[in-house]
Amino acid sequence: MQNRFPDQEPARAVAQSRPPRASRRAQPVDGRAPLLLLLCAALAVVSLFAFLSQRNPGRGAGDGGAQGQPAPPADEGAAADAAFGEADGLLLLVNPWTPLPEDFVPGELVPVQNDQAVDARAYPDLQNMLGDMSQAGLSPLICSSYRSQERQQELYDNKVQRVMAEGVSLEAAQAEAARWVARPGTSEHQTGLAVDIVSLSNQMLDETQESTPEFQWLAENAWKYGFILRYPNDKTEKTGIAYEPWHFRFVGKEAAEEMHDLGLCLEEYLESLAD
Ligand SMILES: [Zn+2]
Repeated sequence: MQNRFPDQEPARAVAQSRPPRASRRAQPVDGRAPLLLLLCAALAVVSLFAFLSQRNPGRGAGDGGAQGQPAPPADEGAAADAAFGEADGLLLLVNPWTPLPEDFVPGELVPVQNDQAVDARAYPDLQNMLGDMSQAGLSPLICSSYRSQERQQELYDNKVQRVMAEGVSLEAAQAEAARWVARPGTSEHQTGLAVDIVSLSNQMLDETQESTPEFQWLAENAWKYGFILRYPNDKTEKTGIAYEPWHFRFVGKEAAEEMHDLGLCLEEYLESLAD
């Protein structure tokens, strides 16, 4: 129950009451002694304030106040870590032409909101991102995250069945289904590094997501947390997947920043690294 009254500051122990000095008045006026006393008192007050302000750095950050937020320490090791996420698999490529290895096993999975789970390496940044969105008054909802091969198979088969119900051949239905649901083995969701994030007030997985404040915030800021909009509108030929203004993929902060700055999708970014 702390912060029940967040506007109330704890009383500061500024020493305002001084011992009475009435007797000093009666002392003979030297002229120097009072001056010295005054100087000492001034020095004490200045030191006290300096001490107190050091103990309260950045107070107010997190209340929506933009000021006083200390910059994160520069990551000196980042440059040395030139392979970015490659070594630890954060740049793992999965697309319609690049299925996961058959023996693929996801990394450690940890639970997140809404009964979802993600790779533990994405977890801290995802939590920070969602937390900052909440602070900004937004309501993001993770509606999909890690999926097992079996679950992906189930989703795909369901879609094929629904398309076939419209009187289409199996082959045609499979091709059509694959436009909407990745074929098993080719879904990023199987890596645990992808999340579908929608607005709590609009849970439709369609282009209307684009006009939600949640998406607009993510489109602008997700890269700062190591996430990329994986299937942008202008990259469908490269990604093989239609525009999805809800599907975000964790690639780590360095790679996400570069891709953001250079305007590259993951396929293009990996090509540029290979050059
Ligand atoms: Zn997705």
